[in-house]
Amino acid sequence: VSSSSSEHDDRARKQAEAKLETVVQYVHRLRHIEECSGAGECSVTDEEILSALGFSSESLARAAISIEALREQYHDREDALEYIYELPLEICVRTGWEPVGGPRKRLADEYYILLCSGGPAVRIWGELDDYGEPCTAVLEYQDWFTEWVPHTGGHQHKDELLEFARCFSYTMP
Ligand SMILES: [Zn+2]
Repeated sequence: VSSSSSEHDDRARKQAEAKLETVVQYVHRLRHIEECSGAGECSVTDEEILSALGFSSESLARAAISIEALREQYHDREDALEYIYELPLEICVRTGWEPVGGPRKRLADEYYILLCSGGPAVRIWGELDDYGEPCTAVLEYQDWFTEWVPHTGGHQHKDELLEFARCFSYTMP
């Protein structure tokens, strides 16, 4: 392995880590909404709210929005799903081997959610169960001209990755 290819791998891995952080943050927001109405005691800090909604303290001041308004937005489930829906660049499915003469399978076997394209590229790849729902989710990354590599850090967040993947539909029209 030459030094330049390991640098490339490092860059791709960092990109995957950044995407993983966002996915985990968005899923934790959804989980939090399930158990907190936003009124009264709330364990989420102002910093976490700014970060999850894509604000810095500077952009907050420029936008003239109060942290209270953002805190309310943070607890809005529809809004949390919007953030999740806007993350993928592309969602694809693949069906496996088909017997000649059919019948054709109705549902796909595999899916991927592309989060970042080019070099480096990042995706969540997994298998679909008999109902077309994701049953596995693996974070993978790829640099120009290399194979997809599973990101080891994604393993400890496989529940979050799966929850994220289950926010989307994989049935064909
Ligand atoms: Zn809360």
